[in-house]
Amino acid sequence: MSQRILLLPGDGIGPEVIQEAEKVLKKVISIYKLDLQLESALLGGSAIDKEGVPLPESTMKLAEQVDAILLGAVGGPKWDQIDRSIRPEKGLLGIRSGLQLFGNLRPAITFPQLADASSLKKELVAGLDLLIVRELTGGIYFGEPRGIRTLENGERQGFNTYVYSESEIERIGRVAFEAARKRDGRLCSVDKANVLEVTVLWREVMDRLAAEYNDVELSHMYVDNAAMQLVRAPKQFDVMVTGNMFGDILSDAAAMLTGSIGMLPSASLDINGKGMYEPCHGSAPDIAGQNKANPLAAILSCAMMMRYSLGLEQVADTIEKAVEMALDAGYRTVDIYTDGHKQVSTTEMGDAVTDILASL
Ligand code: NAD
Repeated sequence: MSQRILLLPGDGIGPEVIQEAEKVLKKVISIYKLDLQLESALLGGSAIDKEGVPLPESTMKLAEQVDAILLGAVGGPKWDQIDRSIRPEKGLLGIRSGLQLFGNLRPAITFPQLADASSLKKELVAGLDLLIVRELTGGIYFGEPRGIRTLENGERQGFNTYVYSESEIERIGRVAFEAARKRDGRLCSVDKANVLEVTVLWREVMDRLAAEYNDVELSHMYVDNAAMQLVRAPKQFDVMVTGNMFGDILSDAAAMLTGSIGMLPSASLDINGKGMYEPCHGSAPDIAGQNKANPLAAILSCAMMMRYSLGLEQVADTIEKAVEMALDAGYRTVDIYTDGHKQVSTTEMGDAVTDILASL
């Protein structure tokens, strides 16, 4: 039976980068004779304009039915003034929570060709290939009780609850161990077990899982040290797994190591490995409609989709290789351009990758 992919172009540069990703998908479908069906639907501001809501029922229904989703980006100044409850971002959050996408995968890859764009020294980041697995639907961001209360002495106090159940830790742990298995087989679990009981339990569950994944080498690191090591010697890591809040912070720090937001894909997975794949960047209203956006994050998101939801590891490798070869050939969109290279538009970059795929 054919597998179904839902394209959600969204707003701003979203449709521009998804158009190039679609070209790549169509090319690999024809090269590998894949039984994949592409469909598309509205999300975000474009859905508000046409249907009055950021996540139309028809989009949610399709999202539930398909095997994987590829999202561009949502939002932009046009919708900044409307009621908070129907802002474009609500559409994105609605899909994430509706599909229970609890496992967030954020690779930080520094292509050697782009190492000069990093804020760290070239030798520290060239060839970096790190994956951060972040728990996305639990932890302190969602724990109850929470709020701001007034104490008996009249002083106000803010409070949140940091809570993880064993099953929540186990399911994100399994995502991370499985991911490490597909890579270099090294997993570093990040916690604060010297201070927080929640993460004492986190560490215990990770140790228990390690016995089942004896092909993966598990280590533990406190989050403060992990932050330091990420900027000191990031290439020591293969896969890192951590909770929602620590992952939020560490994945943004790791993203900056790579130098360009236009190069970073991401995945959010449910318990069955179904996922929503999206570039880490937003809708970039400042360059929207100008055919300037870098489509490589969207194209690399397709590679992640092949690997993590569709079981097509070889296709994933080929897409990533084609991106590397386009960089080797000197193609650069404006965000990653440096002297001596060929500055190309969004569509030209998509064409370059597609042509290389056809030649492999
Ligand atoms: P942004 O990522 O859209 O843009 C930040 C900067 O990076 C801009 O200068 C932009 O031109 C540049 N940039 C981003 N992607 C690029 C690409 N592919 N190629 C070249 N340059 C690129 O972040 P922002 O400006 O903070 O947000 C703009 C809008 O996007 C807001 O409405 C925000 O809410 C939304 N947003 C959406 C998502 C999402 O849909 N997942 C994520 C972040 C922000």
